[in-house]
Amino acid sequence: MLSVCADEAFVEVELVGGHLGCPSCQGVLGPWGHARERVLRCRSGDRRLRPRRARCRGCLGTHVLLPDLALVRRQDEVAVIGAAIEAKVAGVAYRRIAAGLGVHADTVRGWLRRFVERAEPLRAHFTRMVVALDPELGAVLPAGSGIADALEAIAVAARAWVLRFGPGDPWRIASRLSRGGLLATRTPA
Ligand SMILES: [Zn+2]
Repeated sequence: MLSVCADEAFVEVELVGGHLGCPSCQGVLGPWGHARERVLRCRSGDRRLRPRRARCRGCLGTHVLLPDLALVRRQDEVAVIGAAIEAKVAGVAYRRIAAGLGVHADTVRGWLRRFVERAEPLRAHFTRMVVALDPELGAVLPAGSGIADALEAIAVAARAWVLRFGPGDPWRIASRLSRGGLLATRTPA
């Protein structure tokens, strides 16, 4: 799995031009059909995604190029999930968050549980990303709790990305930096 820019034409040019690296071996990825279509619930309405599939010319492994709007196995746009996480860290109860976002309460509770469970590996992962993106930026400072620390590390990593590569939505950057695995069961590589 690779999380990529949601601009399909841009991804196509990168893929065909041999500019995308294999996440397993650093070989070059080439086009390899499409993954099955899925519907992503976005703030602006449902959006159909048909992610590109790519194959590595080196190790021959195949990878799905998931647009950075989406997270692995989540039906909602990352910006909506990110807004729920920010509200949780600010102390808002999950039912109120769900009502505000227009998402089922059980769905929101599932996201937030996973975020709480994974707060420490996420903090560690995004702190490493900060160092990799900008060694000059300095330490990620403690923000007062496990989940606040994780959110702070995500925010600083997104800032480091913007400083290096230009403007972007912080949660989409977080999606890319976790390979879509922000709320997956394992720590992203
Ligand atoms: Zn490879």
